[in-house]
Amino acid sequence: MDQNQKREHEWSINDFEIGKPLGRGKFGRVYVAREVKSKYVIALKVIFKEQLEKYNILHQLRREMEIQISLKHPNILRLYGWFHDAERVYLILEYAHNGELYKELRKKGHFSEKQAATYILSLTKALAYCHEKHVIHRDIKPENLLLDHEGRLKIADFGWSVQSVKKRKTMCGTLDYLAPEMVENKGHDYAVDNWTLGILCYEFLYGVPPFEAESQEDTFKRIRDVDLNFPPTPHVSKNAKNLISRLLVKDSSKRLPLQKIMEHPWIKENANHTGVCE
Ligand code: AMP
Repeated sequence: MDQNQKREHEWSINDFEIGKPLGRGKFGRVYVAREVKSKYVIALKVIFKEQLEKYNILHQLRREMEIQISLKHPNILRLYGWFHDAERVYLILEYAHNGELYKELRKKGHFSEKQAATYILSLTKALAYCHEKHVIHRDIKPENLLLDHEGRLKIADFGWSVQSVKKRKTMCGTLDYLAPEMVENKGHDYAVDNWTLGILCYEFLYGVPPFEAESQEDTFKRIRDVDLNFPPTPHVSKNAKNLISRLLVKDSSKRLPLQKIMEHPWIKENANHTGVCE
């Protein structure tokens, strides 16, 4: 579907055949759908205006959708367009055929170094692209990582107000993905993403996030003290641990920059640059 051929405000529900529901969020549902003319399969996210009004985020959503429409990267879920009727806002999204990456992680327990490195490289490339475009407030949380039909990682988090309102609720109870400067309520910048890459890299390889603890307080302490340890498992190499240790650094200015992640020996040895895992 080409946005140039048909501007987003011209779409209507009659342009789509709606298929099975893919999931449910706080603000509505996501369906697989097909554009009638081109037969192009997409995911249609339906959000109730009443909900948006309740949280007073209709205008913010609109602004952020415009930003998202301009983001075109193989590892960022495309927003092709949007339209609305009296009660609902509809988002025309790229369809991620293989669903949530976390379901796959839970199924497998942990990923191989090749698979983990491929995902970390995909995420790093997507973040570098966003930073270049000065798109900030992207937080890569596990529930927002989807996989397309080839298994390519897609960040499905647009830093939307809807998403963050929802996330604040769903993340309530887990601090695992937050950088020390965030749990300590200090100012933060792009470098929080580099920290999160370290957390995800660890979780992809070990199946659990590094600072997991019985209580929130204990997780908080472990993050603050960067209480990082690597269980003795044969499937995680020295190079992988080196990359994780260089990302999970308390001083945000000393975390490995995105460019250097892409050049790291572990990435070079293991990642598939096409983003597709064999
Ligand atoms: P959300 O409201 O964005 O949290 O979406 C609810 C659920 O629908 C997600 O957890 C996914 O499993 C699924 N989903 C959302 N967007 C897509 C998409 N573009 N392609 C496939 N599944 C999706």
